[in-house]
Amino acid sequence: MNSELNTTCRSWIEVNLTNLRHNANVLQQAMPENCRLMAVVKANAYGHSAKEISLALNKTGVKAFAVATVDEGIELRKNGVTGEILILGFTDVSRISDIKKYDLIQTIIDFDYANALNDTGVFVKTHIKIDTGMHRLGIPSDDFESVKKVFEMKNLDVCGIFTHLCCSDSLKKEDVDYTNFQIDNFYNLIERLKSAKIKVVKTHIQSSYGLLNYPHLKCDYARIGIALYGVLSSPDETILKPDLRPVLSVKSRIALIRNVNKGDCVGYARAFTAKRNSKIAILPIGYADGIPRSMSNGKGCVVINNFLVPIAGRVCMDQLAVDVTDIDGVSVGDTVSLIDDNNLSAPEAAVNADSISNELLSQIGARLPVKFIENLE
Ligand SMILES: *Cc1c(COP(=O)(O)O)cnc(C)c1O
Repeated sequence: MNSELNTTCRSWIEVNLTNLRHNANVLQQAMPENCRLMAVVKANAYGHSAKEISLALNKTGVKAFAVATVDEGIELRKNGVTGEILILGFTDVSRISDIKKYDLIQTIIDFDYANALNDTGVFVKTHIKIDTGMHRLGIPSDDFESVKKVFEMKNLDVCGIFTHLCCSDSLKKEDVDYTNFQIDNFYNLIERLKSAKIKVVKTHIQSSYGLLNYPHLKCDYARIGIALYGVLSSPDETILKPDLRPVLSVKSRIALIRNVNKGDCVGYARAFTAKRNSKIAILPIGYADGIPRSMSNGKGCVVINNFLVPIAGRVCMDQLAVDVTDIDGVSVGDTVSLIDDNNLSAPEAAVNADSISNELLSQIGARLPVKFIENLE
């Protein structure tokens, strides 16, 4: 894409495909021998551009992807992404012909859904989701009979069975106990299926934290989202600490700098009042670009010349103000980072918005152009 974004654009995203490939490799190496990385590229690859991310991963040998919706899956196929594509969530059964046409794999979200899908008469690939304790999607792990019946449905090509852990990010004893309870529920069901001579299909349990905190689990896939993008959800500790490198940064440029007097206000609702004569820089990026409004009033900050500078007043739809009184040598046109590998990581920025990096990143980029970077190696 345009390499001149930084001189012509108001604000932009930089996506480093070399770091992406590095992360895919270190995560794959962290997995047991026969486990494969399933790259979770839902929500436009967490704001990183699903098409380019998936094609780059295809090139490094990644052959399994997960999306949230049928349309996300179709988009990947139309752009030439090869390998398996699992739809993790609900798809209206009326879309069955799309699932088939684009060779997607549909998650069986519960028993009634399996019936409805089977009743369409179209033979499609599926993975059965098992509820082991999160109580969101899935057939309850103690409902062996229903799972068995799904395996017997003649229009469902069951190729996988999986569950999702709800607190694998926490290392607190009660959460570790709960996670182990979920894992046991899953494996107990698998054992019962094996004893009933039901064909062995691919299994998967872990997402990013599941892999990093329970790396010993021997599954066929690990569904990795946030860690693939080089960050964790929050500034957490994990048992495994692979060398992950952030893939995305968000940049803007100083559109103008103004001096305000002590007592002057800045922005909507006069939410910022200068406590001293101040220098305010206006950045052409706002909540419609994915910068959360909850970063208003000094909760969030940006990086200018390696300094963290607080947001002054409310984040507007298309712009925001920062207080640059304390830094020297700032000029109109200077590049500013809102998420940055070195000084302001996505998890740190997310904390300032009372959120997690998954939410922050997935909201980024509705309007920002993306510059893809590949380091020379
Ligand atoms: C989003 C999602 C993932 C990926 O989670 P990360 O924490 O980003 O790795 C894995 N599995 C399911 C079912 C998901 O919905």
